[in-house]
Amino acid sequence: MLTREAILKDIEQCAHRAGRPPNSVRLIAVSKAQPPAAIAALAAQGQRAFGENYIQEALAKMPLCPQDGIEWHFLGPVQRNKARFVGAHFHWLHSLDSLALARALARHLETHHRTLEALIGIDVLEDGRKHGLTLRDLPVFLEGFLADPALAPVLHLRGLMTIGPYPAQEAASARCFAALRKAAEACVSRFALRGFDQLSMGMSDDYRIAIAEGATMVRIGRALFGERPPKNA
Ligand SMILES: *Cc1c(COP(=O)(O)O)cnc(C)c1O
Repeated sequence: MLTREAILKDIEQCAHRAGRPPNSVRLIAVSKAQPPAAIAALAAQGQRAFGENYIQEALAKMPLCPQDGIEWHFLGPVQRNKARFVGAHFHWLHSLDSLALARALARHLETHHRTLEALIGIDVLEDGRKHGLTLRDLPVFLEGFLADPALAPVLHLRGLMTIGPYPAQEAASARCFAALRKAAEACVSRFALRGFDQLSMGMSDDYRIAIAEGATMVRIGRALFGERPPKNA
């Protein structure tokens, strides 16, 4: 476990080593299973972006967290019947993985005059954990997304997200993250996408590797908060 300051410094050094500007990587503090007091303590140190994985847990905690300036990121899979909660309470979604979800979100956002920044969740590894769309399915998803005029005005596609191999392993993790970066570059050259410039990749055990491969957002939980308390504790 490190202080936020130490992690920010480490992120900056990793960016520097990769020849990238110091402020090119954002820290998303993954606060799942952490109490509101832990979120408030980090917010008091200037942390703005927090990531949650479970809708019910997040909705229960949000009213108990500081109300000013927190930017909420949703990281977990979204069941379609929960789409409206994501649309109503979050600023970013990292796990958009179907047109059906995009349509459900867009309907809600339109009705409530809101917008959402979205990353497409990609299952680079196809190792059975099923985190998102496969790289093969990505072009078809984008064609469908861009063909539906109701989506882009409220759901801003900003890039790709993936989860690296578990456990992290230098060469395999780097390959996975490089594949995500190349896929994002291919999307930008093939499709008419604007502001599609974010790569959410890297967690406590592999964020240094992800930054070397171009991550613009790292999602860090345990390294920042310590081990997660057991659920229902
Ligand atoms: C839990 C989680 C994280 C943070 O993981 P740590 O290992 O605690 O840093 C990041 N991204 C996603 C999608 C997660 O579910």
